[in-house]
Amino acid sequence: MANSEFDTITAISTPVGEGGISIIRVSGEEAIPVVKKIFKGKDLANVPTHTINYGHIIDPQTGDEVDEVMVSVMRAPKTYTKEDVVEINCHGGLLATNRILQLTIGAGARMAEPGEFTKRAFLNGRLDLSQAEAVMDLIRAKTDKSMKVALNQLDGDLSHLIKHLRKDILDVLAQVEVNIDYPEYDAVEEMTSKMLREKAIEIRQRIEGLLKTAKQGKVLRDGLATAIIGRPNVGKSSLLNSLLHEDKAIVTNVAGTTRDVIEEYVNVNDVPLKLIDTAGIRHTNDTVEKIGVERSRQAIDTADLILLLIDSSQSLTDEDQELIQQTANKPRIVILNKTDLPTKVDEQELAKLIDGDPVIKASMTKHEGINELSSAISHLFFDKGIESSQNNVMVTNARHIGLLRQADAALGDVLKGLDDGMPVDLVQIDMTHAWDLLGEITGDSYQDELLDQLFSQFCLGK
Ligand code: GDP
Ligand code: ZN
Repeated sequence: MANSEFDTITAISTPVGEGGISIIRVSGEEAIPVVKKIFKGKDLANVPTHTINYGHIIDPQTGDEVDEVMVSVMRAPKTYTKEDVVEINCHGGLLATNRILQLTIGAGARMAEPGEFTKRAFLNGRLDLSQAEAVMDLIRAKTDKSMKVALNQLDGDLSHLIKHLRKDILDVLAQVEVNIDYPEYDAVEEMTSKMLREKAIEIRQRIEGLLKTAKQGKVLRDGLATAIIGRPNVGKSSLLNSLLHEDKAIVTNVAGTTRDVIEEYVNVNDVPLKLIDTAGIRHTNDTVEKIGVERSRQAIDTADLILLLIDSSQSLTDEDQELIQQTANKPRIVILNKTDLPTKVDEQELAKLIDGDPVIKASMTKHEGINELSSAISHLFFDKGIESSQNNVMVTNARHIGLLRQADAALGDVLKGLDDGMPVDLVQIDMTHAWDLLGEITGDSYQDELLDQLFSQFCLGK
């Protein structure tokens, strides 16, 4: 079968190797006939839509029974892709799942590309582009909070706002059109400029409001790159362990880097921290700690947040002072550790050196200070704490942020044009440009290339 836009596609849609049940999803006009060829049980062509049917998958060539399965039959249009969808729930582990996948391909389906199911949902009008991207974010969501933001977006909150903005711009453009049709009235031109200016300012404010949420959105989506810094023995490893204890850490191996960087995520008050270079703080390998100076400099450079540890039971050393200087230009929280021991550090001197950055008193051995640390982190990045932004629309997606910035700039051009006394029909071009750019967010104006690039970022089977 040709690799056409709407042929029948198949993929394993559950994470490989996780859980007891796997699902093979088949979508397209031939979905039901394809599965029917390899299914022994009720006649799938005649079962009612949205039913689950018990039976067996058989290899039609040999007649072998491959697995005992439940097969969901869902006819268009009320399905994820708006096409006929059949899902085979099997429990046979990786081998059987792959074999069933191969059988669906043998029966006439094509292996889906990453994101192709969601792409079809978009092309068939079930999701708009920002919602499709929310599906992607959901798959990657690292905390409940980022999940909630993605869910809101899937609900269409962002799309709704963008559509309103576009409608308002279109109204202005229409009004300008009408006014241009009556050039004989001098007053009309003046009125038109005035209206364009007021509207451009107002719409710009709304876009800038959305852009303000972007910083927070990025943190939720990608995690806050956090470096734990301090001279030997101040308690870095102990802090790391406390943080990891608070939360089940997700450990990812990032391939393709020159050395194996281990990224670990912890959720602190719903803020996902992406801990940088924790390998250097672990005590598994002493040589790693020896080359720590250069590494900590690199870690400082890439960090969005520095947790700088100071040992309160000792006076400040030269090394402490140097690290204080090195981290001065980054968002920073100073952790005064070992407060269970008699205090030796000069807190006033320290306060002067760190120039107003928050200081948390802590004792890792007594597990004190972690709560204070987590609220300090969330206040540093969410003015009024993370809860205050709970119900707002947040822009989290880099593509959306880019387009909003461009639209903002286009509206800036509108205002500049008006200031320079440019003719209204030229100003109109910039206004239309802003309208187009916003449309790219929701996919109301899109290019094939963009679509391919976007959907290829999806996992297989979504
Ligand atoms: P790192 O070299 O910065 O990673 O420091 P470690 O976490 O390995 O801690 C060095 C030593 O200090 C260990 O013996 C810890 O048990 C001890 N330590 C860490 N935190 C505290 C604390 O809050 N109080 C006390 N009394 N000892 C601590
Ligand atoms: Zn250590």
